Amino acid sequence: MEKGFVVAIDGPAGAGKSTIAKLAAGKLGFAYIDTGAMYRAVTWKLLQSGETFSPGIASKIAREIKIVFRPENAVNRVFVDNTEVTDAIRTAAVTRLVSSVAAVPDVRTAMVRQQRRMGQEGGIVIDGRDIGTVVFPQAQCKIFLTATVEERARRRGKELEAKGEKVDYIKLQDEIAFRDKQDSEREVSPLRQAEDAVYLDTSDMSIEQVTDKILDLVREKQ
Ligand code: C5P
Repeated sequence: MEKGFVVAIDGPAGAGKSTIAKLAAGKLGFAYIDTGAMYRAVTWKLLQSGETFSPGIASKIAREIKIVFRPENAVNRVFVDNTEVTDAIRTAAVTRLVSSVAAVPDVRTAMVRQQRRMGQEGGIVIDGRDIGTVVFPQAQCKIFLTATVEERARRRGKELEAKGEKVDYIKLQDEIAFRDKQDSEREVSPLRQAEDAVYLDTSDMSIEQVTDKILDLVREKQ
């Protein structure tokens, strides 16, 4: 595979981007960059600090934070300033606040800079909301991955139930829809499909089918 190749996967919350991106990266021998984890890491650090959210505090944290990914088997371990936060960044408290933090322009500037640095050599699969439109607009392969909000809530609910959590599916659906709205309506780098991205509705597709489809698209672009 040629050096410098970038596979950009964007889409709304719970569309399966990270599962698919991780699998595709493994098959291609590429690195995987989870940009949602980076906005979650900033949000986690803000909550840890005990400060009330404000754009100024969020920006300061985003400028100073040190985020490191350490892939280990199937798990993409995440560290903030040398503390492991792999699970801590997935809590409901972080999920509730992350879209507000990610809407702050200076937070985005700091994260995008790091994402471009991490991906400068290429050979990456990178997922998020603004990868094909803003972070790597020159990506050779762009995919916009989505599914109905009901299906996304069902998948997320199953994951939570597998962890032993009790799930209110209506509430989960509302939370996902609210986060989509915030991500799509913000002024800076809103969630939207890049013009040259391939639209993939995965509502009726299995994980293998989606991964195979993406690998086919990558091969076509090689
Ligand atoms: O992908 P994930 O659901 O973990 O992302 C968490 C949040 O981070 C999103 O809801 C969005 O607000 C923000 N995000 C973003 N830009 C990205 C990736 C994530 O604004 N490239």
